[in-house]
Amino acid sequence: MAEHLLQRGPARLFRELGPRSQVALCQLPLTLVVAALAIATPFAWPALLHSPLYMSGILLFAILFLGCFLVPWERLAHRPYLLIPILDFLAIGLLRNGAAPLLPGLAVLTVFPVIWLSASGMLARSSLILSFFGPMLIMVPSLAGRFPNLTPSDITTTLLFPLMMLAVSLAIRFASVHVRLQQRELAEKDRELRKLLRESREREKLLQTVLDATDVGIAAVDRSGRLLVTNDRQRHFRRATGAEDAAPGQGHQLIFGQDRRTLLPPEKRPISRAITGESFADYLVWAGEGAEQRAMSTAARPLTSEDGSFAGAVVVYSDVTGWVEALAANQELVSNVSHEFKTPLNSVIGNIDLILDDDALPPHLSRRLLVVQRNAERLLALVSDLTATASSALNVHPKRTDLASLVETSLGSVQAQAERAHIQLSADVPSPLWAYADPLRIGQALDNLVSNAIKYSPDGGKVSISARSSEDWVQLSVSDTGMGMSREDTTRVFKRFFRTESARNAAIAGAGLGLSITKMIVEGHGGTITCESGQGKGSTFTLTLPADGPPPSF
Ligand code: ADP
Repeated sequence: MAEHLLQRGPARLFRELGPRSQVALCQLPLTLVVAALAIATPFAWPALLHSPLYMSGILLFAILFLGCFLVPWERLAHRPYLLIPILDFLAIGLLRNGAAPLLPGLAVLTVFPVIWLSASGMLARSSLILSFFGPMLIMVPSLAGRFPNLTPSDITTTLLFPLMMLAVSLAIRFASVHVRLQQRELAEKDRELRKLLRESREREKLLQTVLDATDVGIAAVDRSGRLLVTNDRQRHFRRATGAEDAAPGQGHQLIFGQDRRTLLPPEKRPISRAITGESFADYLVWAGEGAEQRAMSTAARPLTSEDGSFAGAVVVYSDVTGWVEALAANQELVSNVSHEFKTPLNSVIGNIDLILDDDALPPHLSRRLLVVQRNAERLLALVSDLTATASSALNVHPKRTDLASLVETSLGSVQAQAERAHIQLSADVPSPLWAYADPLRIGQALDNLVSNAIKYSPDGGKVSISARSSEDWVQLSVSDTGMGMSREDTTRVFKRFFRTESARNAAIAGAGLGLSITKMIVEGHGGTITCESGQGKGSTFTLTLPADGPPPSF
């Protein structure tokens, strides 16, 4: 940097001077040498004060130096300031021939005008000619003085000196051409760099505008969590968490967990998780406090550098407050309504029971009352299902349980239903089959899968239960040969209130809640449930449970 300044400093200084000062500055070194000579002459070589040639040389130098300042170079066409170094040859000639033989060697002063002419970069060929003939003409008068008694040394000196000056001129020309080429290259690169810089600034501006226009918060961070790119939404989010001044992942930030009250430990904050290289989606956090608190669904993807190493992460924040609140309100409504339904329904069923116990009841009324009772019981079962799905957490109490006996009970309870529907039931389950499960809940899940298998096989067929186990997991599969469903339906079948079109068209009774409850039960055990099916090809539901004790993580 310092070297750079040193190189650029004098050049810039020179450029900032006016043309007169520039010309004078070029002439200054030679003028200083001649001024020193002039001052020393009375003391060192007083005889020279009587040499008209020598004195006129000094005078000419003085005039030339004054001329540098006085001539209005800037107004003259073609800026003929190279006249000064040309006239320098004349002045040096006067000085040198006036001083010889008392003060030899003054011819060497020609190096100054030679340098000036050659370095100016102008009059390329003329400057080479002048660099040779200028010094030669200076040598000629002394040669002429010795004529005709010239020695070979006289002639050689007269030729060698101009040749040396020509060599100096050539060396300077080559060097300056080289420098000029380099400068041109540098200027070209400089222009390219500026263009690239301008383009990259424009792209950056465009990117920022696009980012600010999106309604999700975006933060790109480096490996240490330092923000690289961010947008308006994300800044708003950071303001809400009171983290504007803190580095991401550090300081006190109002980021809460799902219960909206527990502050997340720093390592659980989205950015902190992202900079460990973790990739996640739908990670719900609450930002800020009180009425301003917002639910944020966050997602992160790692950033990799060109060599494939971890370079940081992009974290995206979507405000899902409205959605979360609507869901909570929906669940609250369902849970309140179903709770309010339960008491009158229990009363209806209880009273029907009492009436049915009355022997005096005519048979045709008791038949009608049985229909009322069956429907009231169905309604109560539906309300219980609604209550179960409305509560986000379902209580399970797992323990060492034999699944084979649960399968047996489940098949036993649907035996009559299967016979009515002309369905053959079978099980291929080793006994005992131990799993870490809540027998009541898994029994409920199995009942639901088996009764669905029968219900959705309207033309009869087969329903079978099979098992597979490994050291860590136990799998139960319930398969049927019934109506099945499309591949797309299999992805939505566990959603609340979802019913396939074929089930609706076939007018098979159902509310679309059983499988969502079954899924909640299985996931409450830390297990999974999947569905494989094809339209008209039957279905297989497979639930996987931990074999023994809770698994380490899911
Ligand atoms: P419900 O049976 O009360 O409608 P479920 O949640 O148990 O509710 O099932 C949801 C939907 O999934 C059903 O309505 C039906 O369309 C489809 N389904 C469930 N089990 C089967 C099956 N074994 N074969 C075909 N479709 C099924």
